[in-house]
Amino acid sequence: MLDILFTKSADLHTNTLRDIGVKDGKIVYIANHSSDAAPESREICRLEGKLLLPGLVEPHIHLDKALLLDRMVEDVTELRRAIEVTSHLKQSFTAEDIYERSMRVIRQAVSKGITHMRCHAEIDPVMGLTSMEAMVSLKKQLKGIINIQVVAFPQDGLFHDERMPMLMQQAVALGADVIGGITYMDKDVSSHLDFVYQMAEEQGLPVDLHVDFSDNPKQLAIKEVIQATTKYGMQGKVSVGHLTSLGAAEQEEAERIAADMAEAGIHAISLPLTDLYLNGRGDYKGDYRGLTPISLLLKHGVNVIYGSNNVQNAFTPFGTTDPLDVGLLLAQTSHLGSARDARQLLQMATTGAADALGLPNYGIRIGADADLIVNSTGDARSLLYERPERERVYKQGRLVSQTEVKQHDWLSLGTVG
Ligand SMILES: [Zn+2]
Repeated sequence: MLDILFTKSADLHTNTLRDIGVKDGKIVYIANHSSDAAPESREICRLEGKLLLPGLVEPHIHLDKALLLDRMVEDVTELRRAIEVTSHLKQSFTAEDIYERSMRVIRQAVSKGITHMRCHAEIDPVMGLTSMEAMVSLKKQLKGIINIQVVAFPQDGLFHDERMPMLMQQAVALGADVIGGITYMDKDVSSHLDFVYQMAEEQGLPVDLHVDFSDNPKQLAIKEVIQATTKYGMQGKVSVGHLTSLGAAEQEEAERIAADMAEAGIHAISLPLTDLYLNGRGDYKGDYRGLTPISLLLKHGVNVIYGSNNVQNAFTPFGTTDPLDVGLLLAQTSHLGSARDARQLLQMATTGAADALGLPNYGIRIGADADLIVNSTGDARSLLYERPERERVYKQGRLVSQTEVKQHDWLSLGTVG
């Protein structure tokens, strides 16, 4: 006896309608729809051609500095200033404050269908491990609602203060899942990368780097990231966020780098909410908007995905946590408007991001966790372009969010006046 049977569900890649069965939190039955062959189930959820997707995956978010707009005394339009303004605000962060803002973001995220999230916890001498501790406790508390991976993230660099190496070690001891790094904060990029990769190697953890966040075609630390990934044998376990300078680089060099990234199995995470806001302001041409070059990377076979990065702060005054908002933004800014592109953008937010995060037990397949979203449409384009409320979100077979949209029957209301 199944716990839930989803009947006549549409999926992204085939035109057939399938029945998906769940028991004890796992997917245990997948077959083309048949009214008589499906096993018995305690609950039946009739989808009638609606899309059933695996949970959305947010691969890159900063929960600890989300929702700060009302504390900012000035608007910010430049990366260095965004870091300074946020550094100043961070001095007054407490564990409770970080926890409360993070929880507001997570509540919203779960209602949008996010079942997995990788968040960057800031490690610096002023905050110490406050953010790390808050993220680890959220991760434990919300197990069974959302899976959280915590990145130990040295936002201000590793070598500006002698306490940083020790703080990074302590962050790992507290339970970091990923070693973070940032190529544009320390002068010596190769020492920075050696520190990050050595730590990842010692701990058996993956690496997630903020890389080349500018319009400068000469800022190409990605080349050193590719070398380090090969040198340390970390192929497939390294993700890079931003990577916007690559979009400004000369074509021949950019093509070579994209091919080398695919070879080294480096995942690229586009963060267009922040990139479009902070980049491209000095360009007299006015049309280069500072994004990760999505089409170039896809052409060379790189696993390109996208994330929210920030939610309403100095780096990004926008943001709702809905990955599909970010996907639509990329569709609009990166010439990704076909039906095939819509399916690709949904694939990036699900299985593509799950691949970058190395998630076990993910996807719609036998034996995977039943982390599932019931959408109100069967069409990838209308899901992406209209982004309707997610009807139901399941985490390991348990309903964790349900949103009903009620529209009254206008004709029965009669006219006014
Ligand atoms: Zn970031």
